[in-house]
Amino acid sequence: MKALIKDKPVRGTTFTDLPIPSIESGDLLVKVHAAAICGTDIHIYQWNEYASSRIKLPLLFGHEFSGVVVEVGKDVTNFKKGDRVAAETHVPCGHCYQCATGLQHICKDMKILGVHMDGVFCEYSILPAVCAWKLDPSISYEMGATMEPFGIGVHAMSKTKPAGKKVIIFGCGPIGIYAQMVAKFSGAEYVIGVDVTKERLDLARKMGTDIVLNAKEVNVVDEVNKITKGFGTDIVVELTGNRGVLNDATKTLRRGGDIVLVGLFSGPVEWDLVNNVIYKEATVYGVTGRVMWDTWWTAQSMLLSGKLAVSPVITHRFNLRDYDKAFQLAESAATGKIVFEV
Ligand SMILES: [Zn+2]
Ligand SMILES: [Zn+2]
Repeated sequence: MKALIKDKPVRGTTFTDLPIPSIESGDLLVKVHAAAICGTDIHIYQWNEYASSRIKLPLLFGHEFSGVVVEVGKDVTNFKKGDRVAAETHVPCGHCYQCATGLQHICKDMKILGVHMDGVFCEYSILPAVCAWKLDPSISYEMGATMEPFGIGVHAMSKTKPAGKKVIIFGCGPIGIYAQMVAKFSGAEYVIGVDVTKERLDLARKMGTDIVLNAKEVNVVDEVNKITKGFGTDIVVELTGNRGVLNDATKTLRRGGDIVLVGLFSGPVEWDLVNNVIYKEATVYGVTGRVMWDTWWTAQSMLLSGKLAVSPVITHRFNLRDYDKAFQLAESAATGKIVFEV
């Protein structure tokens, strides 16, 4: 089968032929139909510190995907050949305290597809059945491949009660835009999206975000002060992972508001806790991945409602063999979601 692998500790990736993998008793073999590029994949492609400190070579990478089951492990009872599935990409151990108490998504020994184990930029992928989500017939493969990042937006907003609230979301990449759409869907008074890339801000506006602010062009704290008439926002969601953003982001928050932290910072962050959290009595939530399977049920219901037209967030589609073009475009940060059609 055709596959994209990372086999050298340098920038780039190798398009190669691999044997179709054989599965263990608890796995599914899935014919990949759609696989999306995530920020993690860009790190792996670039081979920066984030990737080199985590990844053992060689690795078949990629994790966001959907496809059809072509083979079922002998211990798997709830899936059959022909089932259309999407992947929860965080594989729980099934035994630790978190797994035993409904917190599989923060499993102590969690593995991630395409990071700690072979992934999905290929024709046939192994998916542990415990991480398979049956796709509703009305959800397309490419939408199925993006339910994982969409689910992060759903999970982030689920920590808060956006109805009738002023929501600001820092970051207008695909997850940021999904979070903005979920906030609107959930009845926010208005949603403000912040980014530094014009294309992403344009996409956010196109997808229904009420106000977009380019942090390169305006002082976001002053602007939000004007927009909210000095009230401040009720809910701040941080998705940039940019260490310089956090203090300004939380300066926009009203006293007693909620802060949801999702973006991954590289290294420790200096945060004025006294003024931004303690005196404000702010509630701070950390969010990672998706709750299994609560987030997936919610995400599916939102998609099936017909009120959330998420498909334009996918802005580009490529064949696997055009991987270099796809990754270079992804690096530009001037796109929505990029999907390989396999
Ligand atoms: Zn991802
Ligand atoms: Zn576990």
